Amino acid sequence: MNTTFIAMAVAILLGIGLLIGIGALSLLSGALNFLFIKPKIEILKSQYGENGFAFSFVWDQNAEPVRFDRLKIQLFNPFGNPVQMEITREFEASGQDFARDLELGPKLREFLSAKGLDSATVDIEVSASRESVTHHISMKGNSFKEKYSNAILSATEVNEKFSVPAEKARFTIPERSFISPPLPRTGKALKIATNPEFAAQFAGAGAGGDVSGGAAAVANFTVAKVWIEPGCIVCDACEGIFPEVFDVTDTTCLIRPGAPLNDGLRIQEAAEACPVEVIKFTKVG
Ligand code: SF4
Repeated sequence: MNTTFIAMAVAILLGIGLLIGIGALSLLSGALNFLFIKPKIEILKSQYGENGFAFSFVWDQNAEPVRFDRLKIQLFNPFGNPVQMEITREFEASGQDFARDLELGPKLREFLSAKGLDSATVDIEVSASRESVTHHISMKGNSFKEKYSNAILSATEVNEKFSVPAEKARFTIPERSFISPPLPRTGKALKIATNPEFAAQFAGAGAGGDVSGGAAAVANFTVAKVWIEPGCIVCDACEGIFPEVFDVTDTTCLIRPGAPLNDGLRIQEAAEACPVEVIKFTKVG
């Protein structure tokens, strides 16, 4: 009887010990997770000199499966001049640790030469705009300047470390001819509208000419809004089709301010040519 009682007590004590052990381990792993897998933004050396800002971003992709695509650098300079500045730039979205080298232009030089920068606060923010997730670091201006000028590693080197291809794949748009080659055996040209020698016979077909099977002319339309969703692979196709509307930068595609929106057919053509279908638009009405 006594032996059974002792065995039961030992089993209960072992069970309690096991539960406490598991709890302690999970607390420890949570703490480790917080300490070591918390998002990290590092300043790197830019290939664009004082016009560029390069950085790397590392985070726990299992906990936050999002794609980061926007950088914001802010200056809070209450005792200097300018008092406040902000530079925002979109970049090619990434769902895994990455480094980017962005050309920010003369505004960055202005930022770096702000009066009182040393005692100002600089905030670097990296966001996933689609998922509304943002991480940021803050530091004193002098520390920012020091990190910026003493950076050694480039974005390319860090991307190699992350096993991300340094140069993103650029799609090559093959040159195409719409003039059909002659038939191989007879050497005769095909009687189609895109062959110049037959073009006259098809002229006016779209406007109700007499060639049967001709497509009706499509009416143009005005676009209310055109925008680019994250995921642009900077293939340049849209800018090639409608350069007045699309501005393809090193990292993404932007809609030019004041872009003409009255040629909806051409915008539609660019959207259809986009290999990753990130050009979106709405029609007026
Ligand atoms: S066509 Fe699409 S992928 Fe290519 S640059 Fe334009 S928006 Fe980007």
